[in-house]
Amino acid sequence: MIRTFEGPGQLGAITKLKPMPFNPITQLKCQSCGSIHTRPHKEGDYIFGGVEEKCPNCGGSKHTIIAIYVEDQRQPPRKQT
Ligand SMILES: [Zn+2]
Repeated sequence: MIRTFEGPGQLGAITKLKPMPFNPITQLKCQSCGSIHTRPHKEGDYIFGGVEEKCPNCGGSKHTIIAIYVEDQRQPPRKQT
C-alpha cells in the first residue's frame, strides 16, 4: 500500500506554522543625562558594554547597556488568575 501525504489537509497544517516572533531589545542608559532608552538588539551588544547611540533626550552619543531582553509583541496579554 502506498500512502501519499500530498493533499489540502497537509498543506493546511504547514501554513499554520509561524516564525518565532522574538524581538530582542537592548536597554540603554545615557551617560550624559541618565535617561533610559530601548532599541532593537544588535549583534555584539552585551550588558554593561558601551555603545554609541544618539540620545534623543540630550543629544549625547555615549550609552551604557543596562539590560537585554526579549519582547514578544505578537502575543496578546495573558490573564492571570
Ligand atoms: Zn542623554
